[in-house]
Amino acid sequence: MQGALASARRALADGGSEPSPDALVLEAVRLAREALAPRLRAVTNLTGTVIHTNLGRALLAEEAVESVAAAMRGYGALEFDLGGGDRGDRDDIVEGLLRELTGAEAVTVVNNNAAAVVLALAALAARKEAVISHGELIEIGGAFRMPDIMKAAGCRLVAVGTTNRTHPKDYEGAIGPKTGILVKAHWSNYAITGFTKVVDEATVGEIAKRRGVPFLVDLGAGALVDLSQFGLPKEPMPGESLAAGADVVTFSGDKLLGGPQAGILVGTREAIGKIKKHPLKRALRCSKITLAALEATLRVYASGHRLAERLPVFALLTRSEADIRAACERVLPHLARFAGEAFAVGIEPCASQIGSGSLPVERLPSAALVARPVNAKGAGRAAGRLSERLRELPQPAVGRIHDGALWLDLRCLRSSEEGVLIVQLSGAAP
Ligand SMILES: *Cc1c(COP(=O)(O)O)cnc(C)c1O
Repeated sequence: MQGALASARRALADGGSEPSPDALVLEAVRLAREALAPRLRAVTNLTGTVIHTNLGRALLAEEAVESVAAAMRGYGALEFDLGGGDRGDRDDIVEGLLRELTGAEAVTVVNNNAAAVVLALAALAARKEAVISHGELIEIGGAFRMPDIMKAAGCRLVAVGTTNRTHPKDYEGAIGPKTGILVKAHWSNYAITGFTKVVDEATVGEIAKRRGVPFLVDLGAGALVDLSQFGLPKEPMPGESLAAGADVVTFSGDKLLGGPQAGILVGTREAIGKIKKHPLKRALRCSKITLAALEATLRVYASGHRLAERLPVFALLTRSEADIRAACERVLPHLARFAGEAFAVGIEPCASQIGSGSLPVERLPSAALVARPVNAKGAGRAAGRLSERLRELPQPAVGRIHDGALWLDLRCLRSSEEGVLIVQLSGAAP
C-alpha cells in the first residue's frame, strides 16, 4: 500500500490526477504480487529448444529430484567415510559410477564445464603453452571463449593450423620445451564444412604420448550412451576420447547427460590426481545438492533400464512428430481464441533444436502452432505483442518470432503442462 501511495503522490506532484481508492487498492495488490512472486519463475518452454541454457537446460529425472530433496532436508555422508568414521572425499559419491560409465581411471567434479576446463588447464599447464587448432578456438555464448579461458588459467595460447584445415605436422611443429598441454575442443555450436581437415583425437593422442605432453579434450555436451539407439544423431562420448589417448576429458552435467549443472572431469589417475590437488578445485567444488542429483542421474544410466523414459532430456528429444502434432491440435482452438481475430492460427511442420551447443546442425522434425497476423502491415509488431501476452500468463509461455509470425513448438510441452496452458489461454481475454 505504501508503494502504491508513494507512486500516486509522485504522479500527483508531476501534475497527474488523483487516483480513485479502487485504483489505489488494485495497484497495491499488483505491487504486492510482484514483490512476492519468485524471480526464478516457472515457464512453459515452447521454443523448440530442448536443452535451453536461458531456460535452465536439462530437466532432471524424478530419481534425481527425490534425491535432491532428501539431501537438502538432512545430513548426509558428503565427505565422510562411514567405514573408518573419518573424513572422506566428496568425489567418491560419483567416482565409481563415472568410472563404470566412461572407463576412466579417475574422476572429479566441479561446478560446470567451463570451470572444469579452467581447472584442468591451470593444474596441468599453468605458465606453459596450450596448443590448440585455430578451428577449435570456440566461443560458447559470449562468456566462454577458449582464448580467454586459457588466459584465465595462466596458459599461453598457441593456435596451430588454419580455421578450416589443421594437420598432424602442425601439432608436431608447435611442441617444444614450453609446451604444457595439447587441447581439442568439440565444435558444439557450429560446423566447418567444405575444404576441411581435422586431426582426429587418436592422432593427437598418439602425438601427445610420443612427445610426453598431456592431452585434454573438452567435449562440451558429452553423451554417456550412444544416442543413435534412440534414433538421434550420435554425439561424442567421453569413453571414446579416453580410448583415443586423452589424459583428461571434460563435459557438462546438464547438457546431453540430463543431470544437474556440473563439470565432469574423467581421465588418468595421474592427471586427475594433479587436478584434485590444485587449490582451484576447492574453489570450484560442487554442493551436496549437485552431487545428490548427479549420483541419482548416473544410477539411471548404470541401470541401463528405460533411459528414454526416465531421463526427461531423452524423452523430449525422442518425442514423435505425430505426438507433438496431436498436442498442437488440442491446444489450437484455445490459442486461436486467445490470439483473437487479428491472427490466423494453424499447425505447421518445424524443426526442434537439441540446444546448448549439442549437435548444432541436427534438427528434430516437430510441429508448431503458428499465429500469423492477418494484416501483413505491422505483422512483426503484432506477433511481438502476442508473444508478450503469452509471457504475461501466470505461468509465462515462451515461443519465438520467425518471419513475422509467432511459432510455438510444442515438443517440450509436457502433458502435465498442457492442461495448465489450455486453462490459462481460455481464462484470458482475447
Ligand atoms: C557448453 C560447453 C562449455 C561450457 O560448459 P558449461 O557447463 O556451460 O560451463 C565448454 N566447452 C564446450 C565445448 C561446450 O559445448
